[in-house]
Amino acid sequence: MHDGSGPDAGRRLRDPRYDILFEPVRIGPVTAKNRFYQVPHCNGGGYRDPSAAAEMRRVKSEGGWGVIFTEQVEIHHSSEITPFIELRIWDDDDLPGLAKMSDAIHSHGALAGIELAYSGANGPNLYTREVPLAPSHTPILTFTSDPVQARAMDKEDIRNLRHWHKLAYRRAKRAGYDILCLYGAHGFGVIQHFLSPRTNQRTDEYGGSLENRSRLLKELISDARDEVGDSCAIAVRLSLDELAGEAGFSNAQLRDLVAMHSELPDLWDFAHGTWEACSGTSRFKPEGAQEDLIRGLRQLTPRPVVGVGRFTSADMMVRQVKQGLMDFIGAARPSIADPFLPRKIDEGRIEDIRECIGCNICVSGDMTMSLSRCTQNSSFMEEWRKGWHPEHIRPKQSDTRVLVVGAGPAGLSAAHKAGLRGYEVALAEAGGELGGRVTRESRLPGLSAWARVRDYRQGQILRMANVSVYRDSALTDEDILGFGFEHVAIATGARWRRDGVARFNLLPVPMAPAMPVFTPDDIMSGHLPSGRVVIYDDDHYYMGSVLAELLVQAGRQVVFLTPSTRVAEWSFNTLEQGAIQARLLDAGVDVRITRGLGSVESDGVTAMCTYTGRREAIACEGLVMVTARLPEDGLYLALKAREAEWGAHGLRTVRVIGDANAPAAIAWATYAGHRYAEELDAAPLGDALPFRREVAHIRN
Ligand code: ADP
Ligand code: SF4
Repeated sequence: MHDGSGPDAGRRLRDPRYDILFEPVRIGPVTAKNRFYQVPHCNGGGYRDPSAAAEMRRVKSEGGWGVIFTEQVEIHHSSEITPFIELRIWDDDDLPGLAKMSDAIHSHGALAGIELAYSGANGPNLYTREVPLAPSHTPILTFTSDPVQARAMDKEDIRNLRHWHKLAYRRAKRAGYDILCLYGAHGFGVIQHFLSPRTNQRTDEYGGSLENRSRLLKELISDARDEVGDSCAIAVRLSLDELAGEAGFSNAQLRDLVAMHSELPDLWDFAHGTWEACSGTSRFKPEGAQEDLIRGLRQLTPRPVVGVGRFTSADMMVRQVKQGLMDFIGAARPSIADPFLPRKIDEGRIEDIRECIGCNICVSGDMTMSLSRCTQNSSFMEEWRKGWHPEHIRPKQSDTRVLVVGAGPAGLSAAHKAGLRGYEVALAEAGGELGGRVTRESRLPGLSAWARVRDYRQGQILRMANVSVYRDSALTDEDILGFGFEHVAIATGARWRRDGVARFNLLPVPMAPAMPVFTPDDIMSGHLPSGRVVIYDDDHYYMGSVLAELLVQAGRQVVFLTPSTRVAEWSFNTLEQGAIQARLLDAGVDVRITRGLGSVESDGVTAMCTYTGRREAIACEGLVMVTARLPEDGLYLALKAREAEWGAHGLRTVRVIGDANAPAAIAWATYAGHRYAEELDAAPLGDALPFRREVAHIRN
């Protein structure tokens, strides 16, 4: 407890209710300074961008986490998950990168954890071309359905597997890690494949009974203790339920396992069954969704227990600990959205917490093998590349004033970050409320948490003396020239198209004027079609399916038409696709896939098979176009056209940002606003890259 004196003088006091979260907890030979445990999470950078990943974790150390983990680290080249980019500890060449990360984690007193993975039936080995090894002969079980099978391990393979783990343990210790965690959750990792009767069909002492199926786990942990157990804690990450009924590794079996081996690891880390279930979006999973599955496990073991649940509420965290559900508050996404979450609770700054909105854009970075972005924390993975920081920003370099037009996510971010730099900022919004698309979309079914994008920024801005907010202020180019600001950011957003143009149709679709055509903007403004409605989705993210839900709730009969092979195809990258399609089917939506929009008649639409071109008439009384958007850039273009007049009005720069520049997902808009503020008064880069990167060291 801080008493307001000494080195902490001047900072606000922690609410004593949260003291329990700051108790040290022992994990085998090491002790975590508090209960905030950043569980392993991918970031799309991994071995390709080691310094970017290390710096991201350093910022979390600064933010007060007690334990910080790497993403999954492949222990041996005979099991790797190309094309996904994680970390590797294949030989000593991997150690400098891993050591850089552990140093970064240690920088502010966190324990460094490394998640060791042997993917087995999940590793297609597309890069190393080794034959995958698994408990039994199984196809490779991953997102990409590669035409590869794993070979059932024989006893020699198992001896080798133990040897490879020993090499990894020693290297992990040399690289500076305090906690070694064996990965056996989410259906990934050979440990889970041995534990599950679905993937372990062996008839020897490693298959059959639970005791046999857990033999490998027991051996691997015993080996780890022999190798490094004097100084490193040994943990295991397991699924709470494989979600395959009693045929799989069920929650009941997990309870039997923990009871059977209660003192085996130094810590039990529990995640949900599949990654999709564990990292469910807020549209499908509330905070703390795994409570029923974890309840009672801690009572089966004297070892500390970690659980997750997209926890952003300090009160919820305290309840999890006090009710004996877990010793450590595990967090991946909440730590991405706000790396300073523990410190803000510690300093009594609850209102400063940037809460995760549960959108899984971060996950999409891993799924697309790019660098992860975060909708809420636009610094994520830019800490090293661009020197951005989630809390600090370099002070202003001139006394110029900034006008931001439009208070959607781009405008709010630009105003917030420019305000943090100390500029005099005016934020003008045409409407009566702030938030732009985030405010509108957060009223759609399942998206209420998205309002946090607005709430955080609005809360910060309204407390900044140098940022003024003007509502009901639709500005014209004339207004702007008259104001005399030196810098203007145009963040006026975008509107949905009505003419059917997106990917399948790059040109407008022939349309009978009698058919009532609606856009998502119409529906968000409360104008709904009546009767039987076709939703044409050539956008492929969330909007089409969310509107389908809304229209079903409003009593409409809905046909969902899409050129894709799946509903909301891109949401595969946010781990939601299966849940979205199931929800529409359960709601009675008539789903028609692989159908493009051919033409629109007065009494229906003509759909076209995307493979054969075969046409099919679908009767409807209204059509909702979820297609492309057009930037609302009229104001920007009008100002650009008057560039010759800028000097006379003191205007120096006009930039268009966010959806008004090029429409994209919300994370792109918060990033664009942040970038705008970072680049104010920055020296021109010329032909230099606007970010740092690491290029592979060339060997002869
Ligand atoms: P982004 O995602 O790029 O932030 P949004 O569509 O969410 O874009 O937000 C744009 C905001 O700009 C909306 O709230 C809209 O009301 C506002 N806006 C549009 N034109 C003007 C204007 N001329 N003056 C002030 N605000 C405007
Ligand atoms: Fe949360 Fe979305 Fe950020 Fe991921 S991208 S941490 S889900 S706000």
